[in-house]
Amino acid sequence: MSLSIQQHISLQPYNSLALPAYAEYFCSLDGEEDLLAALAYARAHQLQVTALGGGSNLVLAGDIAGLVIHLNTKGYSYCNGAEADSVDVTFAAGENWHQAVLTTLEQGWYGMENLSLIPGNIGAAPIQNIGAYGVELEDIFVSLRAVEIASGKLCSFTKADCQFAYRDSLFKNAARDQYIILDVTLRLSTKPQVNTRYPALQQAIADAQISEPLTPEKVSELVCQIRRQKLPDPTITPNAGSFFKNPLVESAAAEQLLERYPQMPNFPQPDKQTKIPAAWLIDQCGFKGITRGPVGVHKHQALVLVNNLREGGANGEQLLALAEELRDGVWKRFSIRLEIEPRVYGLVDQSKDRSGI
Ligand SMILES: Cc1cc2nc3c(=O)[nH]c(=O)nc-3n(C[C@H](O)[C@H](O)[C@H](O)COP(=O)(O)OP(=O)(O)OC[C@H]3O[C@@H](n4cnc5c(N)ncnc54)[C@H](O)[C@@H]3O)c2cc1C
Repeated sequence: MSLSIQQHISLQPYNSLALPAYAEYFCSLDGEEDLLAALAYARAHQLQVTALGGGSNLVLAGDIAGLVIHLNTKGYSYCNGAEADSVDVTFAAGENWHQAVLTTLEQGWYGMENLSLIPGNIGAAPIQNIGAYGVELEDIFVSLRAVEIASGKLCSFTKADCQFAYRDSLFKNAARDQYIILDVTLRLSTKPQVNTRYPALQQAIADAQISEPLTPEKVSELVCQIRRQKLPDPTITPNAGSFFKNPLVESAAAEQLLERYPQMPNFPQPDKQTKIPAAWLIDQCGFKGITRGPVGVHKHQALVLVNNLREGGANGEQLLALAEELRDGVWKRFSIRLEIEPRVYGLVDQSKDRSGI
C-alpha cells in the first residue's frame, strides 16, 4: 500500500475541457486497499469525496473542496455467462473504455463495438448509462461492485438496482456521490452479431460499399470513423462531447412544434414522449459556430461546446455562461428547457445548480 494524498493539485490535465481548477486534496490510486485507506482518511478528516475517472464528462466551474480520488485500477477477468454463447467480463473501474472495447474484440467477445471510442473509463460508464449508435450500457450490463463512501462497505448492484434510463441512473439521483464504483461486469456474446439499426451507421455501411458479411470489428471501425469525422478530438480541441441531453417532450407538444417546424427531427418514445435532437434546436437558433471569447459552439457540431486554448483558454464560469445563453435561446424559441449532460462541479454558490431546469 502506498497512499499519498497531495494538497492543492491542478485538475486541468484531468478534465477533457481543460478547465482550470484545483482539488483541495487529491490522490491517484491503483488498488482497492489504497482506496479504502483514502476513504478512511476522508472520513477521519471530514472531507467530501469526489470520484474522478477520465474527466470527459465534467465541467469544473471552480475548485473542488475535499478529496478528489482519481481511480486508476486496471485489469479484467471473465467467466461463462448465464446465457448460451455468452461470457461475463469484469473490468476494473480505471480501465479505459475504448481500450476495453478493443480487448473484447481481440478476444472474440461481442456487444461493445457500437460504443467504440467513447472517452473515459469503465467506472464512470454506469453513471450516465453511456450510449451511442443504437446501444446503451444497460443492454450489456450485468452488475457492478462499489464501495460506499460514508462507511467503506463493499456492495454490489444488479441492473435493476441501477435504475438505468436515458443518460441517467441511480448514481445521478438517489445514490449521487454515495459510492465509488470498483468494477463493472458486462455480458457479451461469443457469437459475432452486429447491431446496425442506427441510421448514421446504416449510412456509413452503405457508403463503405462493403461486400463481405459485416463483422463486429468492422462495425467498431465504422463507428470510430464516424466519430472522428463528427466530433472534435478533446486532446486538440478541449470539449466534453454532447453538452446537452436530447430533450424529451410530451408528444402533444412535439405535434404542435411540428406544425410550426415540419422539418424538425423527432423520435417518438413508448411513453407518449418524443425525443428531439438538442443539436437541431441549438442550430435553429443560429448558435452553431458562435464564439464568446475563448469559448464557443463547435462549427460542425452544435451540441459540442469547446474551450479554445488558442484564445487563451476559458474558465468554467465562461463556459457555463455560454451554455446559459444557448439554453435561453432555445427556451425563447421552442419553450424547451435543455439539460446539461456533464456533471458541474465547483460552483461557488452550490445552490446554483446549472444542470437542469
Ligand atoms: C468527445 C467526447 C465524446 C463523448 N461521446 C459520448 C457518447 O457517445 N456517449 C456517452 O454516453 N457519453 C459520451 N461522452 C461523455 C463521456 O465520455 C462519458 O460520460 C464517460 O463515461 C465519462 O467517463 P470518465 O471516466 O471520463 O468520467 P469522469 O468525467 O471522470 O466522471 C463523470 C462522472 O462520473 C463519476 N465517476 C467517475 N468514475 C467513477 C467511479 N469509479 N465511481 C463513481 N463515480 C465515478 C464522476 O464523479 C463524475 O460525476 C463523450 C465525451 C467526449 C469528451
